[in-house]
Amino acid sequence: MDVDVLIIGGGIAGLWTVDQLRRHGYRAFLVENRSLGHGQTITSQGIIHGGLKYSLRGVLTASANEIREMPLIWRECLSGQRDPDLSNATIRSHCCYLWQTDSIASQAGMWGASLQLRVKPEMIPVSHRPDLLKQSPGTVYRLDEQVVSPGSVLRCLRERNREALLLCNKENGIEFSCSQSGTVNSVTIRCRGDELYLTPRCVVMTAGIGNQQLNERAGRKQPMQRRPLQMVLVRGGLEMFQGHCVDGAKTRMTITSEVISEGETVWQLGGQIAELGVSMETEELIQHAAQELKSILPGLNVQDLKFATYRVDRAEKKNSLGLRPDAPQVLLRKNVLTCWPTKLAFAPRAAGMIEEMIADRLNLAPSVIPGGDGYQLESWPTPDVAQSPWETATNWYQVSGDQVVPVRATPEKHAA
Ligand SMILES: Cc1cc2nc3c(=O)[nH]c(=O)nc-3n(C[C@H](O)[C@H](O)[C@H](O)COP(=O)(O)OP(=O)(O)OC[C@H]3O[C@@H](n4cnc5c(N)ncnc54)[C@H](O)[C@@H]3O)c2cc1C
Repeated sequence: MDVDVLIIGGGIAGLWTVDQLRRHGYRAFLVENRSLGHGQTITSQGIIHGGLKYSLRGVLTASANEIREMPLIWRECLSGQRDPDLSNATIRSHCCYLWQTDSIASQAGMWGASLQLRVKPEMIPVSHRPDLLKQSPGTVYRLDEQVVSPGSVLRCLRERNREALLLCNKENGIEFSCSQSGTVNSVTIRCRGDELYLTPRCVVMTAGIGNQQLNERAGRKQPMQRRPLQMVLVRGGLEMFQGHCVDGAKTRMTITSEVISEGETVWQLGGQIAELGVSMETEELIQHAAQELKSILPGLNVQDLKFATYRVDRAEKKNSLGLRPDAPQVLLRKNVLTCWPTKLAFAPRAAGMIEEMIADRLNLAPSVIPGGDGYQLESWPTPDVAQSPWETATNWYQVSGDQVVPVRATPEKHAA
């Protein structure tokens, strides 16, 4: 089957790209070998950053400059005013809080660069603070950065593009046939005993951590870097709360939360704690997380909380110093593009860069009329959306004094 663009990997980058290319008349398909968003997108904290996090040193860094247009684009998509229409996605909050544990007065210059950002922090009076920050000694700011539920965004994009999403086997589900010069001529996709032979004009790799191996399979070297994290999950009588506790130029902890299926709220703890957590055992990190929570949120009772952790790697284009790139990375070799968006928030920008390269550098014009039918593969299996980290976490712990003890599983209720 002839295809304009074959996208490999269905995280936020691949899904946003397939949606955009299809809207613009390209006959584009996406192939996924596990579940949509598996890896980074489903485990992310869902903050649509506007750049403040990257300007804490008081200067508008390259990262902050690159990302500052993103919140407006997302806001319009989330309200259904712009495509992709994400109005069915869950917005966890329209804002985040920013606070410090000590007085912020000495850090007066800290927000200097924020003046040049589209989304600026706004100081809030004590009477308007959320309960959790009432006892905080420093100044508290409100930042109008939206926080989305990544799973719900993935579900929206899946619904919009269902007929273009193809599942393949986890192992060896994709085979490339390339010319000597490295052009991909055809791709064979295998799923549950069936085979599909595709002849794409262009291939886009948006497989996150899988990009390196996919490039190797297509006969090329594409070095990348992984920046590991050990994130912490917390539940037990918590309220919804999204915010960054900043310590100088560092984000000491980023807390995001979501109401989970049984009506309970779960918190995801990221930032510095998740970076430091990489070298810790689970129990050690949980003990540390409980102490950090007591220290940064003095009003929080950590006694009855349950904790779990999960490990995940951020996947990016290789940077000589191992630092996070400032912007989405899209590389072109022959008819293959490889993309790492660097941030969930950057998905619209990454999709735009990919489309520009396809149109301008590869000179590929769309071959189907937008909305027309170019998708007759209804019987091919479609990938599901990946499970959220709290759905897959099996080992939960409680902190009792200096002990971290496993939480005994609640006995299953059997029908009479
Ligand atoms: C813990 C954490 C928190 C984060 N929080 C934020 C945040 O708050 N805000 C923000 O803007 N960014 C955040 N990020 C960054 C953001 O999540 C990532 O930059 C973004 O999700 C990467 O998307 P992606 O589509 O490139 O990759 P992924 O989401 O990793 O998706 C890759 C997809 O490719 C598939 N795949 C892999 N190999 C193959 C193969 N061989 N064949 C077919 N398919 C394959 C995978 O199964 C997966 O579905 C966070 C990241 C992490 C890890």
